[in-house]
Amino acid sequence: MTQRDIFQAKGFGNAAPWIDLANSEEWDGFGKRTEHLANPQWLTAFLKHWKLHPAPSSAVPRRELAELRSLLRRVAEKLAAGRSPGSAELSKLNQALKVPARQKLVQNQIGFRTELVPVKSDWSWAIARIAASLGEMLAKGDLQRIKICANSDCRWIFHDPTKARIKRWCNDRTCGNRARVRRARAARRRNA
Ligand SMILES: [Zn+2]
Repeated sequence: MTQRDIFQAKGFGNAAPWIDLANSEEWDGFGKRTEHLANPQWLTAFLKHWKLHPAPSSAVPRRELAELRSLLRRVAEKLAAGRSPGSAELSKLNQALKVPARQKLVQNQIGFRTELVPVKSDWSWAIARIAASLGEMLAKGDLQRIKICANSDCRWIFHDPTKARIKRWCNDRTCGNRARVRRARAARRRNA
């Protein structure tokens, strides 16, 4: 498998960069933790997929990424519980967004479009784009679709694409199936 396949097979690269970063500390459903931020291949696939291009020479700001990740997870937990992010979270998000950019007019075959381009294409711009992807989702009001896997040993954050918003598990075959097996076992014990 290539880096990109591994990234997507795991379920990354679906909804938004902020969800991927929040899930980069992954729990496998049995209590085993994987720190994807420490894996350069994961990081490369993540940046490439979301077209974030920090200057390749600059060192990866792992601490800032991990801090943003905890903030994103906190916000996701609130959204999944039907609550809104608080003012402390909002001000931290705004802190991450505070990176200078300028407008640019681009012409192609179809016509014109405007683009927001960074003054400096560094890591703070990549971090700002990740934070902005949450901001855009909040602004669109698409919040009831943000869910956290009901398996307490997994807690994967996902965007529920179903019309009725009934998805409970990150994956029906793994976490969903595990919950069904557990329920069936409990029912057998009750009937025994
Ligand atoms: Zn799960």
